[in-house]
Amino acid sequence: MKICEYLKEGRFSLSYEFFPPKDERGKEQLFNTLERLLKYNPNFVSVTYGAGGSTRERTFATVKEIKEKYNLTVMPHLTCVAHDEDEVLEILDRYREIGIENILALRGDRPKDNPKEGFCKYAVDLIRLIKRHYGDQFCIGVACYPEGHQEAKSLEEDIEHLKEKVEAGGEFAITQMFFRNEDFFRFKELLQKKGIDIPVIVGVMPITNFKQIKKFANLCGATIPLDLARRLSEVQDNPEEVFKIGVDYAIRQCEELLDHGVDGFHFYTLNRAEATKQIIEALKDKIFSLRKV
Ligand SMILES: Cc1cc2nc3c(=O)[nH]c(=O)nc-3n(C[C@H](O)[C@H](O)[C@H](O)COP(=O)(O)OP(=O)(O)OC[C@H]3O[C@@H](n4cnc5c(N)ncnc54)[C@H](O)[C@@H]3O)c2cc1C
Repeated sequence: MKICEYLKEGRFSLSYEFFPPKDERGKEQLFNTLERLLKYNPNFVSVTYGAGGSTRERTFATVKEIKEKYNLTVMPHLTCVAHDEDEVLEILDRYREIGIENILALRGDRPKDNPKEGFCKYAVDLIRLIKRHYGDQFCIGVACYPEGHQEAKSLEEDIEHLKEKVEAGGEFAITQMFFRNEDFFRFKELLQKKGIDIPVIVGVMPITNFKQIKKFANLCGATIPLDLARRLSEVQDNPEEVFKIGVDYAIRQCEELLDHGVDGFHFYTLNRAEATKQIIEALKDKIFSLRKV
């Protein structure tokens, strides 16, 4: 199913993100995770892509296996940086052959060990290429950044570039992780002012490991509120306490988002089920009433 068709009906979308496993043990973990989360009937799952092509085969194999095994809607991520047009088209042709209808079109960050200049400077170049070659065969999702992308001079400028992605054919967006809902509400207001009216799915990153989240947040420019950071740092060597604080925080954050009306949640699972499961369980009445509308 095309994700944009479902979202057009104005219904809440639930989805999970996985990364392609490196070995058999990782694969077992991913499929165990997926099976534990299947009971919430996700609208789709997505599989990340290593910028520059480092996971090209693994992403494809994971997408194919999930689709064949569970008959789920699977959306591959695809980054264009350090690829030439032919490489990207070959990947897209293979997806089309196995019946993939949705793509998350990204630029990615240039890997240090791959200086190859590709055809694309920005994600919009990838979207234009997809549209030129495949018309409407793929529903295209894009990334967005409630706190602004770290390379952009300002949030406003970043939103201008988001608008270019939408005008080129991006039909829905998934946010980078964020921990302050006020950033998201302000972002949505700015989108409205700019006339950007595509559905925006919230990317939810439950904090389960403080050291890891500090690294991720640093890389993508997400702010961890001071009070939350202080509470996490006090228990950072106690994994159970970190998990509890992180999941409780995510539940409260998601509840407020649901109360304000959001188009969906996309859980960054990191191939683990427990945090996502606890958040959905805590909010399932609200989530499922929105999905039935
Ligand atoms: C939901 C989600 C999923 C992700 N999945 C992956 C993944 O699987 N693999 C991976 O490697 N990375 C992934 N990323 C990270 C992403 O690749 C990086 O954030 C990357 O730095 C930007 O990608 P983009 O598609 O947002 O780029 P773009 O939309 O091209 O934006 C990149 C920067 O360029 C600026 N810009 C855009 N157009 C112009 C222009 N015309 N002139 C000047 N500046 C411009 C933007 O404002 C922004 O600052 C994901 C991010 C999100 C939010």
